Amino acid sequence: MSSVQTVDVSPKVAKFLSEGPKKLFIGGEFIESASGETLDSVNPSTGEVLVSVYAADKEDVDRAVEAAEKAFLGDWKKITPSERGRLIWKLADLMEENLEELAQLESLDGGKLISHARAVDVPLAIDHFRYYAGWATKVMGQTIQSSTGQNMLTYTRREPIGVVGQIIPWNFPLLMAAWKLGAALATGNVVILKSAEQTPLSALYLGQLVQEAGFPPGVVNLITGYGKTAGEAIVQNPRIRKVAFTGSTAVGKRIMQQASGNLKRVSLELGGKSPNIIFPDADFSKAIPGALMGIFFNQGQVCTAGSRLFVHKKVYDNVMADLTSYASNMKQGPGMDETSEIGPLVSSQQFERVKSYLQKGHEEGAKSLTGGQPLDRSGFFIPPTVFSGVDDNMTIAREEIFGPVIAAMPFDDEEQVADVIRRANDTEYGLAAGVWTTDVRKAHRVAHELEAGTVWVNCYNVLDASIPFGGYKQSGYGREMGSEALDLYTQVKAVWVDLN
Ligand code: NAP
Ligand code: MG
Repeated sequence: MSSVQTVDVSPKVAKFLSEGPKKLFIGGEFIESASGETLDSVNPSTGEVLVSVYAADKEDVDRAVEAAEKAFLGDWKKITPSERGRLIWKLADLMEENLEELAQLESLDGGKLISHARAVDVPLAIDHFRYYAGWATKVMGQTIQSSTGQNMLTYTRREPIGVVGQIIPWNFPLLMAAWKLGAALATGNVVILKSAEQTPLSALYLGQLVQEAGFPPGVVNLITGYGKTAGEAIVQNPRIRKVAFTGSTAVGKRIMQQASGNLKRVSLELGGKSPNIIFPDADFSKAIPGALMGIFFNQGQVCTAGSRLFVHKKVYDNVMADLTSYASNMKQGPGMDETSEIGPLVSSQQFERVKSYLQKGHEEGAKSLTGGQPLDRSGFFIPPTVFSGVDDNMTIAREEIFGPVIAAMPFDDEEQVADVIRRANDTEYGLAAGVWTTDVRKAHRVAHELEAGTVWVNCYNVLDASIPFGGYKQSGYGREMGSEALDLYTQVKAVWVDLN
């Protein structure tokens, strides 16, 4: 077993953590919450408090709206698309200069593996901003030949929506902030973003970089606080014209209900229970690591996690043996230990949730081949778990667990694949799916039949700023990333000019 290699906390991170409570970033300045209330940010690897942050409520959201509207009608409006693009690019450059600090905050605050934060979260977030920096100069309308006469000039403009509210979860705090901010800023909106109470730190650090990049005050407002107070205040505020949310399906539904009161635009990226299907003709040197990474990456706290693993019965026993052998040897430890291969869950609440799913799995008759019981140590550790003997109707096969838990199920179609597709689609979710086969015809046929916003063939959990991402069915609607995200943050105006 390799020894522990705990990362030295960078001096900038140490300073950042020593200056608490951390303030809200509103109107270009760091300020205390109106109520003076704070909440604690906990290190999930130890269960200890890292630093406290101010908890925003309605009054702070109102202040942020004030600042954002002022920027929207003032300085931000005067800035050219080219200059917007340069500011977003500058922010990406500053993030790159602070890559280690951002990665350490992600690891300390959310329990993420430092190696992953450095290689995945922060680089993807930087790349996301660069991708949308390019779009700032490519927002286009059309001229349209209408049938109303020769001398009628008709054209469309894509205009920003205005003040946009964004609410993000704790599983990829910095990356989710980037997904939300990139397209919104490129298209000329102003933003109020609320991070999750469990992981407020990287967004606040990002606020320092937004300030340094030179964005006009009020264009980007970053608040921390609870969903019930700060989150609901965003959704209820009629001057916020759109809300983009990533998180649980339950909260997504509540947001829709509340937004119906003021008809703000809503886009939702919600949960999943994604099927990952291994056919007997798969390349197992890719399928086995792919299935493992598909569920254990980020401790399974990934909305696209391949949590329902369908394995053809011909290869089922071998696949189970490989998965179990790998999972039982994964080194579980603190996020900041460079040798850890899997870390803790984000919070004691998430730990209790996943623990209760392990219990349900056992009670309903599934068999854990490895894992299956929480670890008896400080921090919120659940070991990588492989459940076999799972029935499609068991709770662990139907509900999103959001932990490192595989529900494995055999399937046995010989020639046609209709049955496994039916089972894969038998869920209210539709975020992602995986297919492992070397038969190119089968790969595409199955990909077309699966009800999911993303289908990965012979790969899993691959993301890129240029590729649209979002859900079918109750996994939400609207597409982030790619050119599709521009639609979320613009509205089309038709202009008619009678030239007669
Ligand atoms: P959640 O409650 O949906 O939280 C997501 C975000 O919404 C957080 O910023 C949260 O603030 C905020 N929020 C909560 N209630 C709100 C409300 N009434 N109005 C407006 N905003 C509100 O998710 P969670 O409780 O942290 O996690 C629970 C489950 O959600 C997970 O186990 C998982 O199944 C799912 N989840 C999915 C994703 C995804 O990427 N699709 C991400 C995270 C979680 P607070 O931080 O203060 O709660
Ligand atoms: Mg934390």
